Amino acid sequence: MQDKLDELNARLGEIYDLQGAAAVLTWDQLTYMPPGGAVARGRQVALLSRLAHEKLTDPQIGRLLDALRPYAAQMPYDSQVASLVRVTQRIYDKAVKVPAEYVARMTEHTTATYEVWEGARPANDFARVIPYLEKTLDLSREMANFFPGYQHIADPLIDTSDEGMTAATVAAVFAELRAQLVPIVRATTAQPPADDACLHQDYPEEAQLAFGLDIARRFGYDMERGRLDKTAHPFTIGFSTGDVRITTRVKLHDLSDSLFSTLHEAGHAMYEQGVDPTLEGTPLAEGTSAGVHESQSRLWENIVGRSRGLWEFYYPRLQATFPQQLGGVSLDAFYRAINKVQPSLIRTDADEVTYNLHVMVRFDLELALLEGTLAVRDLPEAWRERYAADLGIAPPDDRDGVLQDVHWYGGLIGGAFQGYTLGNIMSAQFYDAAVRAHSSIPAEIAQANSARCMTGCARTSIGTGASSQQRSCCSASPAAG
Ligand code: ZN
Repeated sequence: MQDKLDELNARLGEIYDLQGAAAVLTWDQLTYMPPGGAVARGRQVALLSRLAHEKLTDPQIGRLLDALRPYAAQMPYDSQVASLVRVTQRIYDKAVKVPAEYVARMTEHTTATYEVWEGARPANDFARVIPYLEKTLDLSREMANFFPGYQHIADPLIDTSDEGMTAATVAAVFAELRAQLVPIVRATTAQPPADDACLHQDYPEEAQLAFGLDIARRFGYDMERGRLDKTAHPFTIGFSTGDVRITTRVKLHDLSDSLFSTLHEAGHAMYEQGVDPTLEGTPLAEGTSAGVHESQSRLWENIVGRSRGLWEFYYPRLQATFPQQLGGVSLDAFYRAINKVQPSLIRTDADEVTYNLHVMVRFDLELALLEGTLAVRDLPEAWRERYAADLGIAPPDDRDGVLQDVHWYGGLIGGAFQGYTLGNIMSAQFYDAAVRAHSSIPAEIAQANSARCMTGCARTSIGTGASSQQRSCCSASPAAG
């Protein structure tokens, strides 16, 4: 049986390396590549992705899994062999149901749609994307129908990023959260908003980058196995457990954008750096699900990164870095500024309290589109109605409305958004469990010892027993925008 296991591992290792090579090309594309490289780069990434897909759907993988299943069934569920066979089987079963012809057609269409969206958003021209989005909707339904037997047509798409969840189970979680969230939003926004003018002064780029990276390193982000670069839409990308890179963007007049993007991506990256190196080259070396990945980024960005304790340690250092800007601003004022709650139009800029309402709008609209109860051409109006009802504000145009997120314009409709809110919920649960197990955590965060205690706890709680093919996941990953 060992020879079969060795052969499976060798084949998976080749797939992993092809995907890793494609990821390096993608990282380069999104950081340093000159625009003229785009056409050839698209071809190169597509070739590597196709080779990886062909290797994954090779019938020999299926034969090896057939042979190994009875052997794995005798092992404990969480053992490496049982986990490897179970997770590889799941990925293989899904991959072989999707014809290569469909993958090529879908990739070509989503690439074309992305290009149209890039022009349509600044031009506030939703009409331009309508025919593309209608075809995307057809392709999304087609994808779902490769997996018959679902209750809701979105179920197979949701299961791809958050295994085991369905439209019904997500909707139930969202309904419970929403019932408690809406009164909190109403009560908070009935008060005058916090003054965050101190964050909107001139903050030189290099100092912003260095300060964010310093906190990320103290959190536990290992720079021997990582690096930070600038990009348009921050993301995390890993090529191996020894090389997990983060990106951020810097705005001269917004101190919080780069800082919290860096902490967010560092959360994703520490999760991947924390994977057991013996799992490298297998699907077990990747994130468990979109939601679990996001739980890590949101934990470090918000629960730790916006906590009072953390800034008791860092704020004097931040003031020393920016004495002109923050010398006269108290810790209390700064703490209130970075935790300002105010309904806004843009999901990625939303505060912690209102953020999940943005996700719920998108999730419900996705379901309605897939069900056929909402037509693509009626989407902008449906968007405005939901924002008015849920957040009390409506976008003046589609640029800051239905055109704002890349997800539907660079991929399928369905399964793209629920992970953000599932991640927020899990981040609170993980932190709560960690503090119950180690009551000194809040005090240690205030002494900047967060890495020592928190990384260990997060790793223990999450484990690496299951995996998806997700290579990066964040508010603005190459896949998610
Ligand atoms: Zn994220």
